[in-house]
Amino acid sequence: MSHDHDHHDHDGHEHHPQEKSENELRAEALEALLAAKGLVSAEAIDAVVSYYEHDVGPQNGARVVARAWVDPAYKARLLADGTAAVKEFGFTGFELNTLVAVENSPAVHNVVVCTLCSCYPWPVLGLPPTWYKSAPYRARVVSEPRAVLREFGLELPAEVELRVWDSTAEVRYLVVPERPAGTEGLSEDELMRLVPRDAMIGTAKAIEPESLAA
Ligand code: FE
Repeated sequence: MSHDHDHHDHDGHEHHPQEKSENELRAEALEALLAAKGLVSAEAIDAVVSYYEHDVGPQNGARVVARAWVDPAYKARLLADGTAAVKEFGFTGFELNTLVAVENSPAVHNVVVCTLCSCYPWPVLGLPPTWYKSAPYRARVVSEPRAVLREFGLELPAEVELRVWDSTAEVRYLVVPERPAGTEGLSEDELMRLVPRDAMIGTAKAIEPESLAA
C-alpha cells in the first residue's frame, strides 16, 4: 500500500496530477490481484485508507507543535529525535519511518517536498494534499521556492533563509512553525487550532489568533 514511496522503483516519469500515475495504476492492479487471490479483502484496504482519511490527520501534527510551543523540554526532544517524540503521543507506524522536525525562526523558514514522488509523514499529517504530489510543486519548490511560497500567499523577506527538505522513503519531515505573537495566554488545545496542515509542510505560517477570531 505504500505504492508511491519506493524510490528504488521510481521511473522518473512526470505525470499530470489529474491523471492516474503509473504508481496509482500499479497499486490498483496489485489490489485487484491480491483480492482475486483471496490474500487481502477490498474491505481491509478500504479500512486502511479510511483510517488515514478520517482518523489520522493534521490534528496529530498540530498536537505535537502545540506541545513543542508550550514545553521547551518536549521541543528539545522533538528536534533531537522526531520519531521518538511523536511516539510519545502514540503517533507512529505506517509511512513515518524516521521523522525529522525542523523549526522555523525569524531567520529561517523550512519547507518540505518529495521531489521523486510524494513521501509524507502520514501518522502526523494524514494523507498528502493533491498539490504536494503534483509535478509542478515537486520541481518548482526546489528551483524557485520563494515564487512557489508567494503563490501560497506566503511572502518571505529576502533576508529569511529558505531551507527545502526533500523527503524520502526513509526520512520524512515536519515543520515546526513559529508560535504567533500574542498567544501567551492560550491553552495547548487553543494553540492547536493555530496550526494548519500547510504550516507543518512549510507553505504557510501558523494562524494569527486575531485572524481566527475575525
Ligand atoms: Fe516520495
